[in-house]
Amino acid sequence: MNSLSIYNSLTKTKEKFEPINPKLVGLYVCGPTVYSDVHLGNCRTFTSFDIVYRYLLYKGYNVRYVRNITDAGHLVGDADIGAEDKMTKMAKALQLEPMEVAQKYTVGFHQMMEAFNNLPPSIEPRATGHITEQIKMVQDILDNGYGYEVGGTIYFNTVKFAQENKVYGQLSGRKIEDQLAESRELKNQGEKRHPADFAIWIKADPNTLQRWDSPWGEGFPGWHLECSVMSTKYLGSEFDIHGGGEDLKFPHHENEIAQNCGACGTTPVKYWMHGDMLLLNGKKMSKTPDPETGLSNSITPTELFTGENIHFSKPFSPMILRFFMLQAHYRSTLNLNDEALLAAEKGYYKLMEAYQILEDLKHEENIKISDEDQQINSLIASTIADMDDDFNTPKALARLFTLTNKINSFKNGIIPISSISAETLKSLKQLFHDFIFNIFGLKDETQASNSENGNVLEGLMDLIIDIRQSSRTNKDWTTSDKIRDKLNELKVQLKDSKEGTTWLIEK
Ligand code: AMP
Ligand code: ZN
Repeated sequence: MNSLSIYNSLTKTKEKFEPINPKLVGLYVCGPTVYSDVHLGNCRTFTSFDIVYRYLLYKGYNVRYVRNITDAGHLVGDADIGAEDKMTKMAKALQLEPMEVAQKYTVGFHQMMEAFNNLPPSIEPRATGHITEQIKMVQDILDNGYGYEVGGTIYFNTVKFAQENKVYGQLSGRKIEDQLAESRELKNQGEKRHPADFAIWIKADPNTLQRWDSPWGEGFPGWHLECSVMSTKYLGSEFDIHGGGEDLKFPHHENEIAQNCGACGTTPVKYWMHGDMLLLNGKKMSKTPDPETGLSNSITPTELFTGENIHFSKPFSPMILRFFMLQAHYRSTLNLNDEALLAAEKGYYKLMEAYQILEDLKHEENIKISDEDQQINSLIASTIADMDDDFNTPKALARLFTLTNKINSFKNGIIPISSISAETLKSLKQLFHDFIFNIFGLKDETQASNSENGNVLEGLMDLIIDIRQSSRTNKDWTTSDKIRDKLNELKVQLKDSKEGTTWLIEK
């Protein structure tokens, strides 16, 4: 097995991937906050990690993939205190139970993941299903001297933690002093001893809809706590890979490390991975409205699939989007615009066509290994090496296109198929199948559209035969002749028998 290397956001270097327990790789990815529809930016991050998951499986690893559902504790504006909870806010606006809101958007999220052909995780834990464990972690943090209580709210003592543990700030590059400076502009800092401290358990005010009993009174967990708790519960206090979008590095992930370390004494994650943002027409995609224009720069997948939006000239299918995402490395920003999607559509169809041509290629036996064999085998090895190099999908895709040119040359007879060995052709077919379907997770929509077209054609022909039949019954020979003549022109033959009329297209 070639070795895989991963860019670790913690050490800021590419490192050889060596799982803690080679028998079971642990992968944790921060999931969505289910208070509204997922936007395409969210989908990009989940698709990037779906490819990481798929590639680990391809490499033969046994993987436990945990992706959570945030259904409590995430405050508006990612604040840690002094703002309304996103679930409560939406539940009030829609006049629903918070659980109803969570259910509605969890179902929608799953539908989107399926549309993008993202594999389901092995475990999908919810914050509200792990309140007992979160209370326990808060207690452990208090017992270890890294927390303090002010009127029913528990804060993490970041200053004390940072003095005693070098790890604080390592992931995000933020220092305690920076936060002191920034805090002058921040409101709603509660009764913290220091602006860098953050709430891990929040006292529920009378308007809060989601609240649980705790040793400190009724409240709810801080947003960062659920991921510390659920990753530890299902993957252990030290596990292999933790992923999320770049925007989660601070405060979410930095605080996750502090909490785990404060509660269990261990730094939880060996490889931190962060995917970069999806931009829409050059700006970060986000649901939060722009304070000046009041408009949010976001688009839902459904708006893109149906074409009902102001940004794009036509509808684009989920697989075109997936292909488009593969064209950029997960650590680069990716700009969504009409031109880029039109280009992605062409690329997708070209790749799928090459796959079909390759499937039909038959081998004619030859004797010795040629230059062509060597070239193709070296391209196959490089495609895998690209993915081994921190999941470089754009490079691997470019190799598949170089191979696509070869496949077209075989088809056109520019290069005789007999110039490569049966073994090479088999490896090439295997590579295309593995990469297109198993690793890149693309589905062949060209076949789907053929069968959809087929259904439409069947329906139209039934209709035409029906009209012809009634015109004959009514002795309307003009119409029935017109139908016959036009069908003849189109080389469609009608055959009448006792059982009815059938049709076929002359070849
Ligand atoms: P949220 O539902 O806001 O908690 O976000 C779910 C995931 O989507 C997180 O990993 C975010 O980092 C990620 N995310 C949010 N906005 C974008 C974006 N514009 N591009 C890529 N990922 C994003
Ligand atoms: Zn998280």
